[in-house]
Amino acid sequence: MRELRSDHHLKSLGLHVSSAGYDRQGVADHANNLASKIRNNLTSSLKAIGVDILTGFGTILGPQKVKIGSSDNIVTAKNIIIATGSVPFVPKGVEVDGKSVITSDHALKLESVPDWIAIVGSGYIGLEFSDVYTALGSEVTFVEALDQLMPGFDPEISKLAQRVLINPRNIDYHTGVFASKITPARDGKPVLIELIDAKTKEPKDTLEVDAALIATGRAPFTQGLGLENVDVATQRGFIPVDERMRVIDANGKLVPHLYCIGDANGKMMLAHAASAQGISVVEQVTGRDHVLNHLSIPAACFTHPEISMVGLTEPQAREKGEKEGFEVSVAKTSFKANTKALAENEGEGLAKLIYRPDNGEILGVHIFGLHAADLIHEASNAIALGTRIQDLKLAVHAHPTLSEVLDELFKSAKVKEHASIPELPKHYTSSSGGDEHIQNPVKEGNRLRGITTGLIMESRRILLVLIYFFHDIYRVCQRYLHLLLLFLLS
Ligand SMILES: Cc1cc2nc3c(=O)[nH]c(=O)nc-3n(C[C@H](O)[C@H](O)[C@H](O)COP(=O)(O)OP(=O)(O)OC[C@H]3O[C@@H](n4cnc5c(N)ncnc54)[C@H](O)[C@@H]3O)c2cc1C
Repeated sequence: MRELRSDHHLKSLGLHVSSAGYDRQGVADHANNLASKIRNNLTSSLKAIGVDILTGFGTILGPQKVKIGSSDNIVTAKNIIIATGSVPFVPKGVEVDGKSVITSDHALKLESVPDWIAIVGSGYIGLEFSDVYTALGSEVTFVEALDQLMPGFDPEISKLAQRVLINPRNIDYHTGVFASKITPARDGKPVLIELIDAKTKEPKDTLEVDAALIATGRAPFTQGLGLENVDVATQRGFIPVDERMRVIDANGKLVPHLYCIGDANGKMMLAHAASAQGISVVEQVTGRDHVLNHLSIPAACFTHPEISMVGLTEPQAREKGEKEGFEVSVAKTSFKANTKALAENEGEGLAKLIYRPDNGEILGVHIFGLHAADLIHEASNAIALGTRIQDLKLAVHAHPTLSEVLDELFKSAKVKEHASIPELPKHYTSSSGGDEHIQNPVKEGNRLRGITTGLIMESRRILLVLIYFFHDIYRVCQRYLHLLLLFLLS
């Protein structure tokens, strides 16, 4: 919508569109139809592979025992996985009416497009909705408790995102303030938002807007689950688990046959993280031990252009480096140098690599730019498989593609020539169950490859020395042979 309405953007591509508009109900219907299509497809797939679906609220009655609904429908299972997810977190003092003061659950239905909407919270959900609402013509005001917008992102990426996604758009913001009270619109009055200073708690301002979207995070949905029946105490509502998603009880012991995945354990509140944790549990209960490396799980923010990231931010990496005594380096490439991005008039973008120059380990990758959410997987797979930058540098990317942004990024990193091989992470495990048996076949492969490469380089060096040696002998002999010939001829 934004591109269609931008004369400048279209003109630069040589295009002309007379006028662009949208039908709100049509947009909402498209989103709803898509969601129900995906839901139906997934349900059919589950049934097709033999999954029984029992509908009702589940309560844990004891080990390996779940009650479904309020009836006496009790089922037993060898293993139980809790995956009860999360609900929008609404701070104290905020009155949600679902019409003028809404959460993301309401916003997804797009029942209205307010002229002026305040978005409370500038995390990825708030940012994505600001992208949607401004494209549809709303004016947006951000309310953020921390001192800068998008505090969860790498600072350099937030700065660029602010320059591209906030400043040129119909968006203003208040940072360092809490929305202490929000009253829905009623009796012809607008939505009232009372702001207080986040540090001093002094009143700062009152906003009057058409609507407010509360995007202050998600809270785990773990109430009424019967956790007390297995002696589990939640921590801020989250179910405590170990690195294998096994539930930990109030005494710090593992509850046998009980796992918790997804938003309810709070490790990483993303759909694909929940799914990866589920796969990890299935691996374990079917006899193959597995520990998921959460630092290899990518995240994306679906704005225009997109933002994506995996691993540590630069400040996190520097802190880790200081603590553990290793050097941290940063490499960057711009989308401006990418042919495909330029062809699409989308040169505004940055890819940033945070790495260890001593061994070529990737610590984090952050991308802002066209299709960033698709581009991140080369980096996240590399982290998951333990691939080093010196190996990635040699990979070939098709031209012209956006993937060349990452190609350039890895090629521009300066890994020390005789880089040591990074330590094995604990991501790949044997099926024996103990931590002490943890192995990583890919890393082992890399390590062997490293040793082999070292041997080959060493033998090459020896061969070169020998060639020079024989070459010198040959030259000496040649000179003497020459002198001998001259002597004989004279
Ligand atoms: C606006 C928005 C945008 C998002 N965008 C993205 C994105 O782009 N990418 C991404 O990866 N993630 C995104 N997320 C996050 C993602 O939706 C969650 O991380 C993911 O859904 C968590 O999966 P889950 O299985 O843990 O829980 P959920 O998807 O929340 O599912 C839990 C289910 O369990 C049911 N349930 C709860 N308690 C019980 C009980 N006792 N008995 C029976 N059933 C129960 C619930 O009704 C629900 O259906 C977004 C979230 C929001 C709100």
